[in-house]
Amino acid sequence: MESRLKVIDKLRLDYEVPFVSDRGKALDHTIVRINERRKGVEISYALLDPTEQDLDSLFPRDGMDSLAEMTGSILGDLGMKPRRMALQMWDYSVARGPYSVEGRAPVNKQRDTVLVIFTKSPFVYKFGYEMVLWHQAMHAKDRWERRFPAAHPQVQADEWVDVLWHFSIDGRLEARNKPHYNKAERLEEAAALFRKLRLSADLMDRAVKACGRLWGKEVTMEALLQTGRELGLEAAGKTPPSKRQPRGPETR
Ligand SMILES: [Zn+2]
Repeated sequence: MESRLKVIDKLRLDYEVPFVSDRGKALDHTIVRINERRKGVEISYALLDPTEQDLDSLFPRDGMDSLAEMTGSILGDLGMKPRRMALQMWDYSVARGPYSVEGRAPVNKQRDTVLVIFTKSPFVYKFGYEMVLWHQAMHAKDRWERRFPAAHPQVQADEWVDVLWHFSIDGRLEARNKPHYNKAERLEEAAALFRKLRLSADLMDRAVKACGRLWGKEVTMEALLQTGRELGLEAAGKTPPSKRQPRGPETR
């Protein structure tokens, strides 16, 4: 039987916003090694030292067929017709470091390629990947339509940017009757973050109201950053108390 792990093609994505590594190197593109094509979608398996057997149990063929098919149909539903679309599947064990969330969905700066990254196998853990796909596809749509920049997938925006963005995304998914987190869940998430950022009661109240106003509204990165500045999230987000670490005498 044909190997599912042979590299059959390479896909290059160029970005507007590079990722700057610990050593200060700016990475402005990624190269995705393609292993399979299914239902018009290119598939890349990012596993540590995998065997064909590992692959078949983590990412079964029929499961990958349905995932690929659904990816194509969701992107189409949202008005994206990429020249190339790809899925990158990470094994849970390698999904550490910057990839703490369940996925990512970078688009390239030419806006002709969409990559959806799953950082956990959607099959092994049996979570509903339909919701993850819709969610990631909405992030991709906002980038595709240039409301957000094409950023390298390892670029980490401040946590509050994502938290605000999710009100826009889930509200729009709700309006389309698609799987999403509901407003109450997102408000809880936001309140937890605002507490972590130690917002005053007054700011907390304004921030929660601002979140409510973003529900279902199409936004731009610039608009979110502006909202964050007005609420003092930008300043607070630079040094979240939980992440403060002594970095030497100059920070004391
Ligand atoms: Zn998200």
